[in-house]
Amino acid sequence: MLRLENVLAGYSAIPVLQGVSLSVDAGQFVAVVGPNGAGKTTLFKTISGIVQPRAGRITFEGIDLSTVPPAGRAHLGIAHVPEHRQVFPSLSVLENLEMGAYTEAGRRGWKRNIEQIFAWLPVLADRRAQLAGTLSGGEQQMVAIGRGLASSPKLLMLDEPSMGLAPAIADFIFDKLIEIRRDTGLTILLVEQRVAEALESADHGYVLEAGRVALEGDNRTLRADDRVRKAYLGM
Ligand code: ATP
Repeated sequence: MLRLENVLAGYSAIPVLQGVSLSVDAGQFVAVVGPNGAGKTTLFKTISGIVQPRAGRITFEGIDLSTVPPAGRAHLGIAHVPEHRQVFPSLSVLENLEMGAYTEAGRRGWKRNIEQIFAWLPVLADRRAQLAGTLSGGEQQMVAIGRGLASSPKLLMLDEPSMGLAPAIADFIFDKLIEIRRDTGLTILLVEQRVAEALESADHGYVLEAGRVALEGDNRTLRADDRVRKAYLGM
């Protein structure tokens, strides 16, 4: 579904992504893990078009994304749930979710999507009229995920959804992603610093270090890998 081939991208002369190749198949749950500054957020920004690649190729369902402006990528079915949640604080929960439904598929599927989002995340139904800025961090993250789902995506990209959340709330978010994926077969690409949880939730993982893929494999192989165990799992 999504394929990156030797992508170089960044903000200055020295690229942050130094030749990244990865692929996500339809229905797969893929996690990208790695230390601070490895380039995980830059990777997502490059896929969604906020950062232009300097070299390499990105395709989505066979379409070369260099031909698709950033705004058009959401309409192809790529939803990017950015880091730090970024809800609209002065809009209600429901209005935030409506903002996600700006794609054609999102508008068409709104009635069904909102029912499903409220079924997965009932706290959003209870608080639908509350201003998003007054929610807890975990609830705001749920709004951000719900907003992504409201666009009827084919690929849901989540940038560190557990950031700044208490472990129990982060676990709840990971469990929800597994549930949403199980219910819908949605393709998920997750960037995370909580390596253990991310590799438990996903089927396949990439370890990004200093802008390069240092390791990749299915979740069992990665969790059993000595380097991953030492560097990321504290074993
Ligand atoms: P973190 O988990 O801390 O967010 P990350 O793996 O997501 O880390 P990036 O945010 O992609 O890493 O950052 C990679 C490098 O790019 C860092 O050295 C960072 O300082 C730099 N960088 C990120 N955003 C910008 C920007 N807008 N302008 C210039 N440099 C940037």
